[in-house]
Amino acid sequence: MTEKFIKNEQFNFIKKQVALIKDSIKKHVPPTVLNATIGLANAKALELLPHASAEQITLLDLSNLKTEDQFEQYLQQLSAYVIDFPHITEQQLKKMFPKSKKLKLPDLSNLAGNKLTYLGWNDLRTNKKYLVYELDGKLVGIECKMSAIEKNNICSICNGHGEVTYFSTITKSKKANNPDYYKAIGNLICTDSNKCNEKITNVDYLEIFLKESLGIEQTKDRMYYVNEDAFRKNRD
Ligand SMILES: [Zn+2]
Repeated sequence: MTEKFIKNEQFNFIKKQVALIKDSIKKHVPPTVLNATIGLANAKALELLPHASAEQITLLDLSNLKTEDQFEQYLQQLSAYVIDFPHITEQQLKKMFPKSKKLKLPDLSNLAGNKLTYLGWNDLRTNKKYLVYELDGKLVGIECKMSAIEKNNICSICNGHGEVTYFSTITKSKKANNPDYYKAIGNLICTDSNKCNEKITNVDYLEIFLKESLGIEQTKDRMYYVNEDAFRKNRD
């Protein structure tokens, strides 16, 4: 068996493509349209993993599938190749968040096999949300303040629609000429991080947010990671 090679968010992306195809099958679109949809999905799946081996390309290939069942089976098979979240101990987590004296820890007993892009959990006693993610090969964590908002909305991390909370954090980045400069950044995020992990299809925003929070220099253009309006409303 080839080793696990698909990241959770990549698997979700492929899952989304398959959902589109299954939808087209259900709607009985003309065969030419269906074939084009399948072809495009296949190209996108392969594009995600440009360094895939011949064996992996065969596993990813969905161009010869026809029925809904076959697509379902394809996903089932592919899900076995989703890379596990890195092993992490309670000790490591406590070290990661030294300021949280009574850190509420997530359940680490069944991390393997759980499809996770990031590890996220809430502490409802303190209204905090914690995110842990492997950034450039290193596990990093941030602690955010959560403020409940009542409406369902779009999550900035996974772009999915669902129950969200406003989360904000103080960035560690400082301005050279002003050591007292602190900037809070925040946005909407799925309240339930497990649901977020089922929907996330790319890590662009997550990485930008983490880098900004941790004060890691970014070369990319600064993007719209701060929902200023929401922040202001929340703060006032
Ligand atoms: Zn989300």
